[in-house]
Amino acid sequence: MKAILTKSEKERLLEQFEKSGKTYAQFAEENGLNVKTLSKWIYEWHHQIKTTNEGKFVEINIPAVMALLKHIYNNIMYAELNTKSDFCQKCDYTGEIQIATDGDGKLIWECPNCKNHDQTTMNVARRTCGYIVTQYWNQGRTQEIKERVLHL
Ligand SMILES: [Zn+2]
Repeated sequence: MKAILTKSEKERLLEQFEKSGKTYAQFAEENGLNVKTLSKWIYEWHHQIKTTNEGKFVEINIPAVMALLKHIYNNIMYAELNTKSDFCQKCDYTGEIQIATDGDGKLIWECPNCKNHDQTTMNVARRTCGYIVTQYWNQGRTQEIKERVLHL
């Protein structure tokens, strides 16, 4: 794989990946790519598609983020913006691991790519009581995390 791809070469490669049904790791290895680079490209590609197809949908609203940062700087001086960059060790998915409900109504963490439920093979981090926590939470806290609203 050459180091620099044109935009259309990259899109063709990402389309091949989507159709392949392979994991990030399998596809990256077969095409001589770094798996983290591939997952970053997929993330950016999906973001671009969402923006194109849904018109007004913007995943990261930069002007709003800048306005918020100015407000924090001028009024609060302490606040943080957090992103969700979870990781599934089974399929190399990078993004937001979801909270689902199992057959007994229990809240469980689920990889949106491979439906993995094994918490020992997922890395999930969320802000909890002011700290970025990477251990799993009880059902009450998990419900609270599930109900959080993304503003920007
Ligand atoms: Zn997965």
